Amino acid sequence: MFPVDQFPNGICRKVDPEVMYPNPSDAEGIADAKEVCRFCEHRTDCFEAAMLLPAAKDFGVFGATTDDERKKLRRKAKRSAPTDRTADLALTS
Ligand code: SF4
Repeated sequence: MFPVDQFPNGICRKVDPEVMYPNPSDAEGIADAKEVCRFCEHRTDCFEAAMLLPAAKDFGVFGATTDDERKKLRRKAKRSAPTDRTADLALTS
């Protein structure tokens, strides 16, 4: 299920669906897709739902972010998350 499936009132429902799936090298297309999201009431929830997509199935602009941006955010979050060992140390100190 794509994030937008959860938001039938999303502004993207009113534009050509292809707008939300720009080529990664198309800066203008990406900007256009983000502009669609800009005033959408579901922007935050849509972004959070997109972050839960498996990376291999994550493509398109959701919540004003591209799949590349979300992949970078996932990697960054994974790097900064405590490991089991550091979490254990934090609990025992
Ligand atoms: S935030 Fe963007 S992709 Fe998500 S529902 Fe709204 S317009 Fe669609």
